[in-house]
Amino acid sequence: MKAASFAYERPRSVSDALALLADPAGEARIMAGGQSLGPMLNLRLAQPPRIVDIAGLAELRSVERDGDALVIGACVTHADIEDGRIPDVTHGVLQQIARGIAYRAVRNRGTIGGSLGHADPAADWVTTLAALGARVTLASSKGRRDLAVAEFIQGALQTALRPGELVTAIRLPALPPTARFGYAKACRKPGEFAHAMAAILIEPDIARSRVVIGAIETRPIVVDDSSLFGGAITDLRQQFDRDLADRLLMQAGVTDPAARHIHVSVLARAIAEVAA
Ligand SMILES: Cc1cc2nc3c(=O)[nH]c(=O)nc-3n(C[C@H](O)[C@H](O)[C@H](O)COP(=O)(O)OP(=O)(O)OC[C@H]3O[C@@H](n4cnc5c(N)ncnc54)[C@H](O)[C@@H]3O)c2cc1C
Repeated sequence: MKAASFAYERPRSVSDALALLADPAGEARIMAGGQSLGPMLNLRLAQPPRIVDIAGLAELRSVERDGDALVIGACVTHADIEDGRIPDVTHGVLQQIARGIAYRAVRNRGTIGGSLGHADPAADWVTTLAALGARVTLASSKGRRDLAVAEFIQGALQTALRPGELVTAIRLPALPPTARFGYAKACRKPGEFAHAMAAILIEPDIARSRVVIGAIETRPIVVDDSSLFGGAITDLRQQFDRDLADRLLMQAGVTDPAARHIHVSVLARAIAEVAA
């Protein structure tokens, strides 16, 4: 099948893009890498009358340090991150995650902002950026605001984006050298979306930790204290509380015991990585 016809716009700046998105007659849809939107157009699951292609906007490809945070433009691609073309404030975490997304052809075009804008529950950036405590900057013709990734993602393919809004950047706090990060996912074969994933961040110096369980058909489960799963970092591996993980998944609507078992096992792998 081919896409239904649509008007195609390539704005020259973010403000031009925002003006196009603000046009009430337009019902415009943003396109970044087109890796998720392209198939949706071709299958006619999306039939927007107008596409606003933001992939070429230099403002959205910029990356800069701002204090102890890294501000990553929404149109930075997975391959940019995989290839180390952006500064690393996560001691290799970003590169590790980018490398595991889909196939190189998808990574060459797919963007970090598009991944969040699409909000597939199994998207690697959704779980990872929630665990890293990243924030999303949103802009519209009316102004700017920012939200934690965990608030921005509201459900499967659902975000807090308002009409006319664009993700312009992701603000990522730099990890201290002592921070530890664990990540695991289960895929039918490499390069495919995962059916279970989990991330855990522990920052011992400031006694902060976070556990995220993703790929669950709704917003990720975020627990802001990893010790709830079994105590201090050194004890987590031995004392991992599978029942707590199982209950949280049940509460999040994962009713199939086999699916919960896979999620809990994937979380156990992430914890084993961080506690190794
Ligand atoms: C075969 C295949 C396998 C894949 N496997 C994985 C995987 O294993 N893990 C994974 O994480 N991802 C995977 N993906 C998805 C891939 O990472 C895409 O890059 C991502 O889903 C969308 O990014 P994009 O830039 O292509 O966005 P697009 O396809 O252009 O847009 C996707 C959606 O986001 C909106 N959008 C785009 N940019 C913005 C923005 N700046 N602000 C607001 N809304 C925006 C669009 O309007 C659209 O609704 C896979 C994709 C394919 C085709």
